[in-house]
Amino acid sequence: MSNIFKIAILPGDGIGPEVMKQAIKILERIQKYIKKKITINTYCIGGIAIKKYSDPLPRVTLEGCEKSDAILLGSVGGPEWDHLPLHKRPEKGSLLKLRKHFNLFVNLRPSFFYKNLSILSPLKEKILNKGFDIICIRELIGGIYYGPNGIKGKGINEHAFDTEIYSRFEIERIAHIAFNIALKRNKKICSIDKANVLQTSILWRKILIEISQKYKSVKLKHMYIDNAVMQLIKNPSQFDVILCPNLFGDIISDQCAVITGSIGNLPSASFNQNYFGLYEPAGGSAPDIAGKNIANPIAQILSLAMLIEYSLKERKISVKIKNAIHKILNLGYRTKDLSINNSKEKIITTDDMGTLIMESIK
Ligand code: NAD
Repeated sequence: MSNIFKIAILPGDGIGPEVMKQAIKILERIQKYIKKKITINTYCIGGIAIKKYSDPLPRVTLEGCEKSDAILLGSVGGPEWDHLPLHKRPEKGSLLKLRKHFNLFVNLRPSFFYKNLSILSPLKEKILNKGFDIICIRELIGGIYYGPNGIKGKGINEHAFDTEIYSRFEIERIAHIAFNIALKRNKKICSIDKANVLQTSILWRKILIEISQKYKSVKLKHMYIDNAVMQLIKNPSQFDVILCPNLFGDIISDQCAVITGSIGNLPSASFNQNYFGLYEPAGGSAPDIAGKNIANPIAQILSLAMLIEYSLKERKISVKIKNAIHKILNLGYRTKDLSINNSKEKIITTDDMGTLIMESIK
């Protein structure tokens, strides 16, 4: 086994390069705690790659990722490229391709609540008082987004269709990942479906129940998607691991994000069977604030922490990073997006937030 761990760095567009710079500071700081030597190589992706190579995911980038052990991505896209056809746009032309190419069928979106930032959440205080710490696991490369689709016919006969197909294999592999994650947390899974209407959901639920027999210590619960979106608003503290097929996961993971009140704090991870993964902030390239040194780098730094936990398997180091972030937030340091105009808060730049977190890693 190699003693070197290679990370492909893809800063991308908008705030991507600014927040990535902060994650690299953290990487340099934690090297001393990690057994393997970490090496990084930076590649173009998204709009910047369209400018340079006329391709949002150039061959050199894909090959660089193939030679790496994990990918850390900033974000892609922006108004400059919105006029392009969908398949040539940075998002579809690079992110969906990367997911498919590396078979990244698991998507993890943690959503937790920082007590000091409760005012940013749209939820009422009495709901937030119970706190929440949820991880949403979304099946990422199957289901309705990848089934046969099209728009056919003309005039009154014009019609469109999207098809949801899930195989036993696809459901089993994501289920095992979810049960294993639940084992390391509070041993609870809530599986989201629409088994009162959809055949794919009936199969999904049946297989989940079968697999649960192998993980007797984990409590499995099922919830219809329509009820789940209500429950998440009424009482998020009831959830721990939420497992969803692709479409429902798309909806629920964004809802999990909004109840925290701060998209700039939320990381995500997508990985395959071998835990080769792509780690990126849950938000986009935020073109409205790009280049101003005011973006919040926490989502990018937490994405790195997830990379360290899941791909590098150094959970303790990832906890060190999370603790450093808590410490800095508890001291009142905020980027502009986290500001609540409170006299105790200290508004700082992207660069300063990165440096303060880096210096707090002990
Ligand atoms: P966005 O997430 O980029 O921005 C939404 C709002 O959140 C903006 O006001 C932005 O300033 C703010 N925001 C986001 N991240 C922040 C951060 N780290 N710090 C402070 N504020 C932050 O979503 P959008 O405006 O819908 O999309 C902008 C571009 O990003 C589009 O081109 C979109 O396609 C792309 N996008 C890319 C990804 C990705 O790369 N994975 C994901 C979503 C959107």
